[in-house]
This record gives sequence, structure tokens and C-alpha cells, in this order.
Amino acid sequence: MREAVKKYIAEHYEDYVKDLEALTNIDSGNGDREGTEAANKFVAEKMTAIGAATEFRYNDRACHLISRLKGTGKYTILLVAHVDTVFKKGEAARRPFRVDENNFAWGPGVGDDKATVVEVIYGLEALKAAGFDNFKEIIYYTNGEEEGGSKTAEDIVAELSQQSDFAIIMDVARPNWGIVTQRKGNAKYRVEVTGKGGHHGNASQSCANAIHQLAYTITELQKLASPMPGNPEDFTAAALKARGIVDAGQFIPQNTVNVGVIGSTNDKISVIPGDAFCEVNIRCFTIEEQQRIDAEVKALADKVVIPGTSIKIT
Ligand SMILES: [Zn+2]
Repeated sequence: MREAVKKYIAEHYEDYVKDLEALTNIDSGNGDREGTEAANKFVAEKMTAIGAATEFRYNDRACHLISRLKGTGKYTILLVAHVDTVFKKGEAARRPFRVDENNFAWGPGVGDDKATVVEVIYGLEALKAAGFDNFKEIIYYTNGEEEGGSKTAEDIVAELSQQSDFAIIMDVARPNWGIVTQRKGNAKYRVEVTGKGGHHGNASQSCANAIHQLAYTITELQKLASPMPGNPEDFTAAALKARGIVDAGQFIPQNTVNVGVIGSTNDKISVIPGDAFCEVNIRCFTIEEQQRIDAEVKALADKVVIPGTSIKIT
């Protein structure tokens, strides 16, 4: 069985590269309905040839494809990949697919996730060629709007998950061939501080510095984060590899907090800022942790230390 699959894959390498070229050269940026439709039509044709039943679903931003292969076994397996890319229309024409002298493939979305989309097709072809059908059903969902996500995509994943015993997300690997076995949930917050602006030289006593309050709030936000394992230099992909550690994920803490953006409408050093804001991204491994942090973040709206300011957190 294993040998038959290996043989099929080895014999069809050139075909695989040709298909990867064809799919990469189809512009299918996130939000491009026609492009994701063209990409999924390419996938549907291949899947139909293997014997799958295909179903297209649409919204105004994308085309989604669900392919189903029937077997004779007990379990249903869900495979999820995506045909959309992060690039704008015209990118595939601007820098089409190419393979360089080191045998690396280049092109928009070639790795994320088009190589995988085609790999799954060849994997299924190889199983068919080897006569393997010990599954109840293999459902292959090629998402048309993975980048950024959508209600449509979420609903399809939820629906297909209910029909499946196992699910594997077929997306790019990590450096050193690491497989991603878990990812954190993701919450975004905006913190807006309103103070009282005025001239620093003669009105300080009747003003309230919004940036000063924001600085305090940011420090409190960072206190919510799990501690990092140590000196960042010791935990780069290269440093881990040098120590013989393949899986960087074991160092990922329970949650991470990132204040990524700060600002104020004030742009004068002599003016006390009457407003300030920051945007915060918080990621956690468990829903319980996310909810715990959510409550702590929202409670910071009441922790005013600069009299005259107020905090709004959304
Ligand atoms: Zn991806």
C-alpha cells in the first residue's frame, strides 16, 4: 500500500508541478468571486476525474467547493484547504509561476495554499490507484475565503465537521517541516481614552493627558500576558534548530498580548493630548482563557488613574 502510493507520487511529479503552475497562475485573491470560482473549477475537474461528487457554493465575495469521495469503510474524513490568496488581481500575471535553480517554486499563493490544494488531489489519486477505499467518505472542502475568514466559510466548516469523524486542515507547514497541531483563538480590542486637551504651558491644571492614561492602561494590558520563555534570541527558528529542537510550539505560552497600534489626533509637543487610542490583539489556546482575559481587559475601562480621563474598550 505505502509503496504503491510512493510509486504513484514519484511517477506523477512532473504532472503535479504542471497542475501547480496552472492553479498558481489563476488569480484568486481573497474577495475575488470569479477568481476563486476559476480556481475551484480547476479543482472540481480533477476531483470529478477521481470519482468525487462536487458542489459549488457562492456568496458575493467567493466561490466555495465541496468534493465528496465515497468509500466502503467506517469513518468520514474532512480535509480543508483554501484556494484564495492574500494578493490583488493581476498579481499572477505580474509574477507568474516559476521554478528556480534550487527547485523552489515561486508565484502568488504558491505555498499558501495552492501547493497543498494540488497535493491533496494527488494524494487522493494515489490512494485510488492503490485501490484504497477504507473510508466511509472523504470530504474535501476547498475554501474560497480562508484569508480573513467569512460567515459562509465558518458555516460550511461547522456543517461538514458534523458529518465527519476526523478533520485535517491542509495548510502550509512551519520551518523545519513542523506540522501545526494547534493554533490560538484570536480577539481584537480597541482602547479609546478621552481626556481634556489644552496648552501645556498655561492650562495643565485644567487638562487631563489621554496619552498618560493610555500608557498606564497598556502596562496593565501587558501584565495579562503569559511570561515569555526567556531571551528572544534563544528562541528564533535558527536558535531552536541549533539546539536540535524541531517543535517551536512547545514554548508558546497560554496567551499572548500584543499592543500593535497606538495613536492620538494630537501632533504637538506643547499640547496636552485630549484623546489617545490603541489596538490590542490577544490570542489564547482555550476558550476559558480567552473569556477570563476578556473580563480582565474590559475591567480596565474602570481603572482610571489620571483624573479627568475616561476609557472606552470595545
Ligand atoms: Zn493558508
